[in-house]
Amino acid sequence: MDCIKIKKLEVFAKHGVMPEENVLGQKFVISVELYCDIRKAGQTDNLEYSINYADVAAFIAKKTIENTFQLIEKLAEYLAGEILLNYPLAEKVVVEVEKPWAPVHMPLETVAVSVDRQWHISYLSIGSNLGDKKAHLDMAVERLKQDRQTQVLKVSDYIVTEPVGGVEQDDFLNGAVMLRTLRTPEELLDLIGEIEQEQKRERIIHWGPRTIDLDILLYDQEIVHTERLLIPHVEMANRMFVLEPLAQIAPYARNPLNGDFVIDMKRKLLSE
Ligand code: ADP
Ligand code: MG
Repeated sequence: MDCIKIKKLEVFAKHGVMPEENVLGQKFVISVELYCDIRKAGQTDNLEYSINYADVAAFIAKKTIENTFQLIEKLAEYLAGEILLNYPLAEKVVVEVEKPWAPVHMPLETVAVSVDRQWHISYLSIGSNLGDKKAHLDMAVERLKQDRQTQVLKVSDYIVTEPVGGVEQDDFLNGAVMLRTLRTPEELLDLIGEIEQEQKRERIIHWGPRTIDLDILLYDQEIVHTERLLIPHVEMANRMFVLEPLAQIAPYARNPLNGDFVIDMKRKLLSE
């Protein structure tokens, strides 16, 4: 991907673990790589299609001066997030923070941390079969939109499906959502959990009625296998109520396990 670089911007600020560092201040040297598509700017010679590096440099200096953190880890993380949130063309950033005068009493040139952060694409499945189902799905989408670190890029139509799993209950309303997020998979699961809690989802019967269920189907092309989380979602390829709305917004999204497109999964399930 194309890249815009700001190298070794010097900022006098007050980050540090020692109390005197927060009072006296010292020099920080910040370098940033902004990954973005600048082809159109290159073709048209128009800054509107690029990221203004003068603007970003001033932004970094301001954010670095107006905060006081203990750790340069925190400063780097914070700057990376703020840049991605404020410059929508930036897909990915690498932020390096150097602290050449760090009080370590050793003959070193500098100490530094570097973080690499980017937007991720994730697909969720949403479903409800209690009360005003459409209102519950709409509310969940609204709540996703309110998260500062998450943007809702697409929402499918909601489709009515019969329940699976053998429990006698009302029909489901299901949809799929495409997100752009700065959250990690685990952090996205936390967000989903909060939304389910807020909408008073009660886990009474396994696979039973629920006001709202949100599941992470895909997260970039990552395979996640932890205590709390399996991505791609284990059941996605077996559930038409997941594949149908997902195919509407992302027919060519891929299952990283076998490379299947969503439309392939749908076709396979139909022919079973
Ligand atoms: P289900 O969605 O299968 O009907 P729940 O919503 O009650 O059931 O989910 C139970 C648990 O599944 C959650 O607590 C979560 O930790 C785990 N889980 C594993 N993988 C995922 C995923 N991809 N998306 C959402 N939850 C997941
Ligand atoms: Mg779930």
